[in-house]
Amino acid sequence: MTDATPASPARSRGSIVLIEENCTVCMLCARECPDWCIHIEGHKETIPATEPRGRDRQVNVLDRFAIDFATCMFCSICIDVCPFDALAWSPEYRFSGEGPADLLIERDTLTRWGVAPSE
Ligand code: SF4
Ligand code: SF4
Repeated sequence: MTDATPASPARSRGSIVLIEENCTVCMLCARECPDWCIHIEGHKETIPATEPRGRDRQVNVLDRFAIDFATCMFCSICIDVCPFDALAWSPEYRFSGEGPADLLIERDTLTRWGVAPSE
């Protein structure tokens, strides 16, 4: 955000950000989104047991997380239902582009906005 850009009100819903380390790829947000505008892809990986009598564990690994802000209605349901606080509002808004296709924001950008929203 440049110096000339006015600051958003403190509680404004500027954009959704992803705190990737908290995401377990549970898909709850994508299932509850009324507009189906969250796109998640993942796969399972097996973590070998560390104890001789232990069991291997399966974990979900995130491959893709994207939000289509062209259809998002900023209802906050995805943030409210996430059990792991992996989604949050950033008061800053960074949307720009020539058309609706430019509002499909992918994981890297959503994560970067969460760390440094003004970049
Ligand atoms: S704010 Fe609402 S419409 Fe937008 S991605 Fe979240 S659940 Fe979907
Ligand atoms: S953001 Fe939250 S609700 Fe959505 S997949 Fe990740 S952990 Fe589950």
